[in-house]
Amino acid sequence: MTDRHIRNIVIIGGGTAGWMAAAALAKVLGPGHSIRLVESEEIGTVGVGEATVPHLKLFNQILEIDEVEFVKQTQGTFKLGIEFVDWGRIGDRYVHGFGSIGHDYGLLPFHQYWLKLFRAGKAADIGAYSLNTVAGPRGKFMTSASDAPAHSPLANIAYAYHFDAGLYAKYLRRYSEARGVQRTEGRVVDVLLRADDGFIEAVMLQSGEKLQAELFIDCSGFRGLLIEEALHTGYEDWTHWLPCDRALAVPCENVGAPTPFTRSTARAGGWQWRIPLQHRTGNGYVYSSAHISDEEAALTLMGHLDGRALADPRKLKFTTGMRKKFWNKNCVALGLASGFLEPLESTSIYLIQSGIARLLNLMPDRDFSRVLIERYNSQAAFEIERIRDFLILHYVATERRDSSFWRYCSDMTIPEPLADTIRLFKDSGRFFRNAEEMFAITSWVQVMLGQHIEPQHYHPAVDLVPDQEIAGLVDSVKNVIAACVEAMPTHAQFIARHCAAAPL
Ligand SMILES: Cc1cc2nc3c(=O)[nH]c(=O)nc-3n(C[C@H](O)[C@H](O)[C@H](O)COP(=O)(O)OP(=O)(O)OC[C@H]3O[C@@H](n4cnc5c(N)ncnc54)[C@H](O)[C@@H]3O)c2cc1C
Repeated sequence: MTDRHIRNIVIIGGGTAGWMAAAALAKVLGPGHSIRLVESEEIGTVGVGEATVPHLKLFNQILEIDEVEFVKQTQGTFKLGIEFVDWGRIGDRYVHGFGSIGHDYGLLPFHQYWLKLFRAGKAADIGAYSLNTVAGPRGKFMTSASDAPAHSPLANIAYAYHFDAGLYAKYLRRYSEARGVQRTEGRVVDVLLRADDGFIEAVMLQSGEKLQAELFIDCSGFRGLLIEEALHTGYEDWTHWLPCDRALAVPCENVGAPTPFTRSTARAGGWQWRIPLQHRTGNGYVYSSAHISDEEAALTLMGHLDGRALADPRKLKFTTGMRKKFWNKNCVALGLASGFLEPLESTSIYLIQSGIARLLNLMPDRDFSRVLIERYNSQAAFEIERIRDFLILHYVATERRDSSFWRYCSDMTIPEPLADTIRLFKDSGRFFRNAEEMFAITSWVQVMLGQHIEPQHYHPAVDLVPDQEIAGLVDSVKNVIAACVEAMPTHAQFIARHCAAAPL
């Protein structure tokens, strides 16, 4: 029988997507495969993308990356969630924390019992019942304690990382090259398609070198060199739902201890991020050019930095949306080449990771079964559309009317599945996670409550539990969490003890 296995893979692009793909493919596929990555220093990378979600820990585990080494090498810090400031109303502040809120009791999630007490004025805000949302604002952090009892909140702490995007790509490059990935510095100037079926046959480099492969991975950034410029796949534009189309990014000096959370502050024409690293703080203003000018955005951003700016602000333009196919013929697009959702919930790097996992699960042979390709595309579309809806939720659930941007957001028509999710929650606090969607009930509940979508009722089964028992449950969760947070070190202490990076 002829060997139909894919042996030659070419990755175009050496940003976060390209190097994550190279590292994972080299690790999982192992020897017997040729993996080549082409990148152009002259073109460079997008240079942002520094906040993550907890799923990255799994990626690191599969790659057998040592956490301490990884954090040191990338000037990393830890992230318990995202603090949202001024989103529902000016003056609001809530944390979307990773991990659990209380614990399920009987058949119901904790927030159903909490709702009954809260509506009666007998419970604190939902944030008091999650380790992450209490520890974050107090600047406390630790990884899970291996000696804590299994039921203790300290036994299973959900966290992610902040890191320097450039250092992360370098780290993965070293990892990949050590496992046989061949890197080629150069610019792709042409893409050759097979005459009979339009599959990609080879890419031509400026040097004249021709790189052939069976599978091409397009990690070339927004332009989508293969997926769009060569294969004309098409793009679904979501600007009407996510109107921000520009960002200004600027690093500044650290002031004070690093917070164990990303901050997102709503501004007149969008929102500002703040990502603390060991050696600097990353900042950016994501905004809608239809509502404010670049000059206004720059003034706002520069006026709201913690410390001295370390560079001039860098402007990035984007269109939120997704490629009509993520996998077209023998090309799989990952990262910015596959689509873009603004970084409000730090989901882009996660989407790269999940695209890589999906590709490994649905790995084709040289016949490129249509069934595999269609499954990949339908799963990827479902995943990004649900994340899109979660992002839209932040905008539409605002009571702000103080600028044309916020008036637009609060009045826009939203996708029906999102409208349905909000209706159900408003009715009686119910939520159902669909299939393999990324964000769990705790994320949706925290954002909906944080932005004043308050359920009118709670689940009727809550009334089957005596009020005293409910009060005992809710109070004990709060007290246990408060005691655990008290015992935690500060984020700065934890980093200093375990993973302080060498100065650059
Ligand atoms: C403002 C902003 C903030 C963001 N913040 C976050 C965040 O906090 N968290 C998160 O998860 N994600 C975030 N993202 C997304 C994140 O930055 C990207 O998902 C991630 O960096 C991956 O980018 P990439 O590798 O796809 O593209 P790029 O970094 O653009 O890399 C493209 C690569 O292709 C190469 N290339 C292009 N053309 C050619 C050619 N002709 N020949 C050879 N090589 C070529 C380039 O040289 C480069 O190496 C953010 C994005 C933006 C725009």
